[in-house]
Amino acid sequence: MQKDFDVLVIGSGLAGMTAALSLDPAMRVALVSKDHLAEGSSQWAQGGIAAVLDSNDSVESHVRDTLVAGAGLSDEKATRFIVERGRDEIQWLIDQGVEFTADEAAEFGFHLTREGGHSHRRIIHSADATGRAVTQTLSRRVREQANIEILERHVAIDLILGTHPGSGKKFCRGVYTLDTASGRVVSLGARATVLATGGAGKVYLYTTNPDSATGDGIAIAWRAGARVANMEFMQFHPTCLYHPYAKSFLISEALRGEGARLLLPDGTRFMPEHDERAELAPRDIVARAIDYEMKKRGLDHVYLDISFKSPDFIEHHFPAILERCLEFGIDIRRQPIPVVPAAHYTCGGVMTNLAGQTDIDQLYAIGETAYTGLHGANRLASNSLLECLAMGRACAAAVGASAPSQEQARLPVWDESQVTDADEQVIVAHNWEEVRRLMWNYVGIVRTDKRLARARHRLQMLKEEITSFYGSFKVSRDLLELRNLVDVATLIVDCAAARRESRGLHFTQDYPSQILVPAPTVVRQSITSPDAR
Ligand SMILES: Cc1cc2nc3c(=O)[nH]c(=O)nc-3n(C[C@H](O)[C@H](O)[C@H](O)COP(=O)(O)OP(=O)(O)OC[C@H]3O[C@@H](n4cnc5c(N)ncnc54)[C@H](O)[C@@H]3O)c2cc1C
Repeated sequence: MQKDFDVLVIGSGLAGMTAALSLDPAMRVALVSKDHLAEGSSQWAQGGIAAVLDSNDSVESHVRDTLVAGAGLSDEKATRFIVERGRDEIQWLIDQGVEFTADEAAEFGFHLTREGGHSHRRIIHSADATGRAVTQTLSRRVREQANIEILERHVAIDLILGTHPGSGKKFCRGVYTLDTASGRVVSLGARATVLATGGAGKVYLYTTNPDSATGDGIAIAWRAGARVANMEFMQFHPTCLYHPYAKSFLISEALRGEGARLLLPDGTRFMPEHDERAELAPRDIVARAIDYEMKKRGLDHVYLDISFKSPDFIEHHFPAILERCLEFGIDIRRQPIPVVPAAHYTCGGVMTNLAGQTDIDQLYAIGETAYTGLHGANRLASNSLLECLAMGRACAAAVGASAPSQEQARLPVWDESQVTDADEQVIVAHNWEEVRRLMWNYVGIVRTDKRLARARHRLQMLKEEITSFYGSFKVSRDLLELRNLVDVATLIVDCAAARRESRGLHFTQDYPSQILVPAPTVVRQSITSPDAR
């Protein structure tokens, strides 16, 4: 089955919805989401969006803070491009109907918070659930648009590529997608395809990311021959709730900002031994210290304690965290919270220019899937939602300015003649668990050449198993995600092995210092034909 559009937007988080809403309403747009519309990391964002909204603040200052966080690897031009758009992007969200927390005394009319690494108050927010406010509003707007067809529960599998007759250069004609309701694979055709599929946190055993964050867009673009960069820079959030039934719940660093202490199971405080700033050290240092203590003592988790504050204070400042922990029987007013570091943000991704254009004609990437150069070796808090907005709108403008729509020729049909229903789903489930555990143990917060080599070897074996499974059985969402997880895990290992220094989020015991002239780690595979099954 084939369906044709002008533009395919794959992913309906903040980046995807922003792009879809910013395209010319005369264009027929498919907004494809592998789950329901609002699912993705965007809806879980708590803190807010960084933007220069006060005359005491400046673009220069925001650029500088971003470059400092990026540890010598942020691209200044990209950083400036995105930061300069902050005020316009926030105004666009307000125009869409997003309600930010007001502050009548503030110049711009909204309350601004300050987060680690920012030298000014510049985080606009909607209480402690900014992502929910933004995605709910944009979801409503998307549903109102007659030109946008929403394809929920459709999983993008691979690109459908064509070849320009003269140059032999590849271009993107569309995407194969699995409609999980019918089990059928549909060929979606368009003159522009935008990958906005989010990050890859699920490649690790512990993550703050939702289930959809399996790096699909990164793996899809890489399999088609696009360059991918800086995958070694995975940001780990130091404190995610540790509980067998709690999935991906982040315990905000605002608790540490208010004096919460990290403790070992016997109640000993350990951060002062690792850094003079103790619990207020930057995220990467705190995550590394927790990882060190856990590995040294064979612990599953450590504790974060704020119970010395009055119950009133906790109820007023941290209502969402209090409520969520109570659901798991943990009363943070009286007891410490079990926590573990968790993969939080994928700084690397598909390389793009400042229009979101990738190496492949008619293929764009935006949001956490993309690598624009903004985050360098470490992401400054609250810059990611800003990047989704700025690049979503820049990409929509570039797509609008590109070639006019044309009739799609027939796309190749997905061939299922050689495959049967999978008989051993346990293999998929087992390999999922294995990839995530081996990445956590061997390619986590602290790395060594030896552990990376071991991970590479094991991933290669898993890849062979999955390729054989993929070639023999009908595809399912679990299998497609597993295939992407293994590709993305391999990209992380390859990038980490190539970086012979410790910088930003990448720390290796074999090369603890920094080299003088750093450069992004760029990987590309020779162009295969991912559309051939
Ligand atoms: C708990 C948490 C808190 C955060 N807090 C903040 C914050 O306060 N400020 C900030 O700036 N950043 C924050 N971040 C980071 C930020 O939320 C993300 O970087 C950002 O939301 C990514 O948006 P996105 O649109 O790129 O991807 P997402 O919002 O993750 O959306 C990805 C979309 O792609 C779809 N998709 C994925 N694969 C496929 C496929 N194969 N086929 C079809 N669809 C697919 C998903 O279903 C989803 O719709 C936080 C992240 C987390 C996890």
